[in-house]
Amino acid sequence: MPPHARGHRRLRTIPWVTSPHQLNADLHCHSSVSDGTLQPEELAARAQANGVQLWALTDHDEIGGQHRAQQAAARIGLDYVTGTEVSVTFADVTVHIVGLGFDPDDATLAGGLAATRGGRRERAMEMSDGLAKAGIPNAYDGALKYVGNPELISRTHFARHLVDSGVCHDTHEVFRKFLVEGKPGYVPHRWARLRDAVEWITQAGGLAVIAHPARYKFTANEEYALFSEFKAHGGRGVEVVTGSHSSADAVRYTETALEFDLLASRGSDFHSPTESHTDLGTLPPLSERLTPVWSALESRIQRAS
Ligand code: AMP
Ligand code: MN
Ligand code: MN
Ligand code: MN
Repeated sequence: MPPHARGHRRLRTIPWVTSPHQLNADLHCHSSVSDGTLQPEELAARAQANGVQLWALTDHDEIGGQHRAQQAAARIGLDYVTGTEVSVTFADVTVHIVGLGFDPDDATLAGGLAATRGGRRERAMEMSDGLAKAGIPNAYDGALKYVGNPELISRTHFARHLVDSGVCHDTHEVFRKFLVEGKPGYVPHRWARLRDAVEWITQAGGLAVIAHPARYKFTANEEYALFSEFKAHGGRGVEVVTGSHSSADAVRYTETALEFDLLASRGSDFHSPTESHTDLGTLPPLSERLTPVWSALESRIQRAS
């Protein structure tokens, strides 16, 4: 037996040496750089306090918080992988694609995300006009007070404004009454193309993952088209266990991940201590039948030790 195999050389322990499924990975959440209410540093601390062992911050259409998240994670001894959540229009429906493990300084990815963010200001002003016609004046200025990043005004910021100004009891009520298709504050918007989002992430060295597929309410045919096209463009994974899925959804998308030979991801989609139902690090594990996406991210993880 060579000397190092008897323990003369310390080998770094891999946290999932027993089973990668047992790792408490949370690879989906939002900071004030998009529509979350906490700073990247506060999220890092909360993730660690909740027992997260591998964390990714995935702001909408933004990677401006990545260096802060990386630095905060390194400071407190938490393993980190880069993340974002790209807004895509597929079959006239908004679909979200999570990117994981890319180079946070990649210019093509940064440019694609900047273009995707581009129309948000005009959209927000139109939303405000729609709300004014429904008797809610100055919603644009109201929403702006909640925005942490001037390039990223989202429906969530309008929702917070309408709650705090007493129009609705909670953000879910605002969405239901004002911000979804057919309601006065809804403005249709064309986001990135599926092919482009997958390519921006992939060419930056990352893995593209379909976020919370149950949320899109696609028919079987539409969903088949989404998954097949995503794979054809180089997409690699799907979120199976997420704060946006029921346990029945997780069972269903376990089968879909196996059918399409996709890696499986897990993430709370945490936005805020007062609004989110699922906190960081509190989700059940992935089925042992799946291959966790973090098994394919090994070389891209920033190790804290
Ligand atoms: P936007 O990118 O501006 O269209 O805003 C989308 C964001 O709104 C999502 O990322 C969620 O954070 C939030 N959202 C969407 N639907 C709902 C809902 N029904 N209730 C609460 N928040 C929602
Ligand atoms: Mn959001
Ligand atoms: Mn999403
Ligand atoms: Mn999200």
